[in-house]
Amino acid sequence: MERVRLLVFNAALGVLDYRVAERMTVEYGSVVVAPLGPRQVLGIVWEAERLSAQDVPASKLRPLLEVLPVPPLPAQLRRLIEWTADYYCAPLSSVARMALGSTAALRGGGTTTEYRLTGEEPKRMTPQRAAALDALQGEQGSIRELAELASVSEGVLRGMVGAGLLEPVMVDLDRPYPPARPDFAAPRLSEAQKEAADTFVAAVKDHAFAPFLLDGVTGSGKTECYFEAVAEALRLGRQVLVLLPEIALTENFLRRFEQRFGVAPILWHSSVKSSERRRAWRAIAHGEAQVVVGARSALFLPYASLGLIVVDEAHEVSFKQDDGVRYNARDVAVIRAKFEAIPVILASATPALESMQLAEAGVYRKIELPDRFGGAMLPEIEIIDLRKEVPERGRWLAPRLVEEMKDRLARGEQSLLFLNRRGYAPLTLCRHCGYRFQCPNCTAWLVEHRFSQRLACHHCGHEVPVPDACPECGTADCLVACGPGVERIADEVAEILPEARTALVTSDTMNTPEAIGDFVAKAEGGAINVIIGTQLVTKGYHFPELTLVGVIDADLGLEGGDLRAAERTYQQVAQVAGRAGRGEKPGEVLIQTRHPEASVIAALANGDRDAFYAAETESRRDAGAPPFGRWAAIIVSSEDQAEALSAARAIGGTAPNLPDMLVLGPAPAPLSLLRGRYRFRLLINARRSAELQKALRDWLEPLQFPRGVRVSIDIDPYSFV
Ligand code: ADP
Ligand code: ZN
Repeated sequence: MERVRLLVFNAALGVLDYRVAERMTVEYGSVVVAPLGPRQVLGIVWEAERLSAQDVPASKLRPLLEVLPVPPLPAQLRRLIEWTADYYCAPLSSVARMALGSTAALRGGGTTTEYRLTGEEPKRMTPQRAAALDALQGEQGSIRELAELASVSEGVLRGMVGAGLLEPVMVDLDRPYPPARPDFAAPRLSEAQKEAADTFVAAVKDHAFAPFLLDGVTGSGKTECYFEAVAEALRLGRQVLVLLPEIALTENFLRRFEQRFGVAPILWHSSVKSSERRRAWRAIAHGEAQVVVGARSALFLPYASLGLIVVDEAHEVSFKQDDGVRYNARDVAVIRAKFEAIPVILASATPALESMQLAEAGVYRKIELPDRFGGAMLPEIEIIDLRKEVPERGRWLAPRLVEEMKDRLARGEQSLLFLNRRGYAPLTLCRHCGYRFQCPNCTAWLVEHRFSQRLACHHCGHEVPVPDACPECGTADCLVACGPGVERIADEVAEILPEARTALVTSDTMNTPEAIGDFVAKAEGGAINVIIGTQLVTKGYHFPELTLVGVIDADLGLEGGDLRAAERTYQQVAQVAGRAGRGEKPGEVLIQTRHPEASVIAALANGDRDAFYAAETESRRDAGAPPFGRWAAIIVSSEDQAEALSAARAIGGTAPNLPDMLVLGPAPAPLSLLRGRYRFRLLINARRSAELQKALRDWLEPLQFPRGVRVSIDIDPYSFV
């Protein structure tokens, strides 16, 4: 090639042509450095015919500066990037950036310096040093990473290096990973499990696109089944990607993987330290990383020879990214499998309606595991009608639930209370004047957190200390907490069962792998009697002594009237119910609600999943909602309210009039102020046949907005705020 077309990492420029310098060889997918004015940019060599660019005469082309020492991005990945940009109406360069993941890795391997404790006793002890000595036991990392871990300044750590308390260690950035062993500890599968596993193994051998929906009840051994497919990929020397919805779940997964394959898998998520990311990225690109477990960002990495993708807990909403490129990792995983010609397994006990529909239509092959492994029974589910069984004044647990918890404690079994609300109370108000604490940047109440003694916004992170007096009327000691959060439930448990050992599981308390590991070890070892948690505890865990689950407020998710509210409630409650009775003892679930007549609550109580899916399918069909019709949202925001409104009106005013597309709005978004930006939304409901993306592009591309206005498109939105 003499002339190349680059996708450059600058969304404003996008595509530029260059000349290949003498004695330089490039291929499609090569990552290169090119001159741009006085600066340099990173780019990927792309097939010229697939990207349009301005015609520049050859004589005017500037030469490339450098080809980076990494394998070219494979063609399948380039097609995936194009597909994603096109489908989600996102800039190509923003999507491609997700493939590069670690820019440091592009510079090649080599070594880096990390630091660890020497074990010397300090001659001079300060509170910061003591904190660092405590926090950094067994840790190794860059000064910056260690400073973050220990919550001390980098200066303190440099001082400790000088004092001989920390020592430098040279680290080979490309040191190989120990190999996973496919037959390290293979389980004996049940008949049903074996059948499922054999199907997956055959599909891995086939090396053809094959999407599966692994629909198995909680505790049926879905992980064990897809591990057999992982083992087959290992035998064939092909790479595997396992996507998990939350970092919190990776700890648990890691241990199970290690027990099965003898070594840990390779982790990829935002809290993996930079040298490990760099190492992982390079091993992935060179085909040496065997099994990668990660959050959705692992999906776009440049795997050299992918053989299988697994999306576990595939129904989870967190696979949908709601900033930057607004894509759904579950859906893109299937597309990636198609481009790579490999199987993809979507595993869930409560599949998304969209996935069920695709299985029904024969697009996905459904593999069912209807029973729990080892004869464990699914738990008994009962409803507590809060209008009839009223908790004591100022309390949130109905008497029957309290009795059952006492009973479990007496028997040495565990209870789990689920409430999907962080903090102590969702609203704080002044008893005297009625003042309510609201976030100045968002349309949201400030949530009280007792541990940190702060009022915090869960949208933007704004925080203030809890004041002694009302800021409005000045009355002292007049603030009242309204409604429960998990911290308040924990207080209540401490009053009712003072002798119980409790664990509070929320993203506030479980924010490091150590904290999660510690909790799991204690819960498994029976050192915890009552677990109180948010959606973090609803999935992935297997505590054999856990025999009672209490759902504090099943109606919570039904508020707000979002399209998937019923489905989400169903999934959450079914998942958390699935934590009960996984061992030899049977489990029981009590669901507190004020709407026992709601169809989703009734379906849960009757264990009638099919009826729920059928009813939900019908209501979606009537509404033209996914999977029968499609939605897209346009979100217009600005720090200036008038500017945002006029931009939203300009968009509304030029809406295309198409027979298969209905445009609703603009209207203020439910979260009409978010992080200091005023927001308006338009919602588009389209028939499946509509050329939705093209219509959106034709509509929006000609429009011009003031600089402060941001317009983002959300295809197949999950969030309606
Ligand atoms: P799911 O993901 O479907 O909820 P898991 O894969 O977590 O189920 O399995 C539930 C529990 O049963 C786990 O502790 C798992 O180790 C155990 N288990 C499942 N299948 C087997 C098997 N064939 N042999 C031994 N243990 C199994
Ligand atoms: Zn806020």
